Amino acid sequence: MNPLEHELVYPWPGLPAPGEVSELRPGLLWVRMRLPFALDHINLWLLDDEIDGVRGWTIVDCGITSDETKAAWENIFDTVFAGRPLLRLIATHFHPDHLGLAHWLAAGGERRRWSAPLWMSATEWTIGRLLSQTKGELGDEAGERSAAHFARHGLADPESLAKVRARGAGYYSKLVPAVPPSYRRIQHGQSIAVGPHGARRVFEVIVGHGHAPEHVSLFCASDRLLISGDMVLPRISTNVSVFEVEPEGNPLPQYLHSLDRYLQLPEDTLVLPSHGKPFYGLHRRIAQQHAHHQARLEEVLAACAKPASAADILPVLFARELDLHQTTFALGESLAHLHALWFDGRVERRAGNDGVLRFVAV
Ligand SMILES: [Zn+2]
Repeated sequence: MNPLEHELVYPWPGLPAPGEVSELRPGLLWVRMRLPFALDHINLWLLDDEIDGVRGWTIVDCGITSDETKAAWENIFDTVFAGRPLLRLIATHFHPDHLGLAHWLAAGGERRRWSAPLWMSATEWTIGRLLSQTKGELGDEAGERSAAHFARHGLADPESLAKVRARGAGYYSKLVPAVPPSYRRIQHGQSIAVGPHGARRVFEVIVGHGHAPEHVSLFCASDRLLISGDMVLPRISTNVSVFEVEPEGNPLPQYLHSLDRYLQLPEDTLVLPSHGKPFYGLHRRIAQQHAHHQARLEEVLAACAKPASAADILPVLFARELDLHQTTFALGESLAHLHALWFDGRVERRAGNDGVLRFVAV
């Protein structure tokens, strides 16, 4: 356990086995599903629900598209669902681990398992739907553009670039082969009532930026529950990256600014994150994130005493050995810190004769 984690309280120290369900509160269930990445699991939430007089389930997020995830869901349908249907799928954001199986779970999918509507924010649904199209520039050329982006920011090793190229081509659409063609839009500040008649929970939608463009978290005031998605995580920091789709983005201040919305919530809120374990210590965790990024910004600024590319910054921010998946995220993160300093006027950007962009302290 890292020292910061000692400042948080985990009311359930154990973990449910992959695909196993654990009841946290009446009608609120936690399930962990496996992911084939360094980040090897995602938490999904099952809520006892009733819509239009029909008793069933609402789920929050759905896992990537894979036979293993489908089998885990089938097992839950057979046991936990107890003959009741899926009534609604809420996806926090477009990332594959959250949206991957929506096409199978929700209405409109070709081989759908249920006909539940998909509830998402407009930006997240649109991006997911666009990226899942395998044909054309978004799919086939994504690897090429991703490699060009990282090369421009100093990734020089031909082998890594070849892997980025190969991985990027159709990467998203492998994990998210389709996104339902229609959805129900949810927006910041909206209330969503979930639960059987007489035992309804009202969740307030809190939109956050910086990790994804219009990420949705759900807060229930009466139960002091926050389904935080990826915006507040206990063990790892939320990924905040500049990728090729928005190469001059400045997501870090957007993320930190969004976090302040969660400071309005009570400190004794139970946080249900998409990765790691449910925890208490929301305000503490937000303070840790601010401190973490402030410290990283100072380190990056110091490293820019001489011109430095995002690739040059990598060892400053990440001491450990990274695999390719992690390297692309780490480069994206390095660039997010460089851009925060650049937009603030604390570093300037220079284009080298080698085509690489470097940043130098003003
Ligand atoms: Zn995410």
